[in-house]
Amino acid sequence: MPNYQVGSIVVMKKQHPCGTNEWQITRVGADIKIKCVKCGRSVMLPRIDFNKKVKKVLTY
Ligand SMILES: [Zn+2]
Repeated sequence: MPNYQVGSIVVMKKQHPCGTNEWQITRVGADIKIKCVKCGRSVMLPRIDFNKKVKKVLTY
C-alpha cells in the first residue's frame, strides 16, 4: 500500500478530463479527499478505491 498523507501529490491511473493525473491529498480518513492540481476540483473516494486507483506518490 502506498504511503501518503495530507499534502502529498499523487499520480492517479486515470487522467482527469482537464488533462492532468496529478492530485493533492486534502483529507485522509475512511475516505480520501483529493484535489486536482490543475483545475482545483475535489473528489472523495473510499480509501480502498483510492488505493486501487493511485499509481504513485510524488511527494510525501
Ligand atoms: Zn482536473
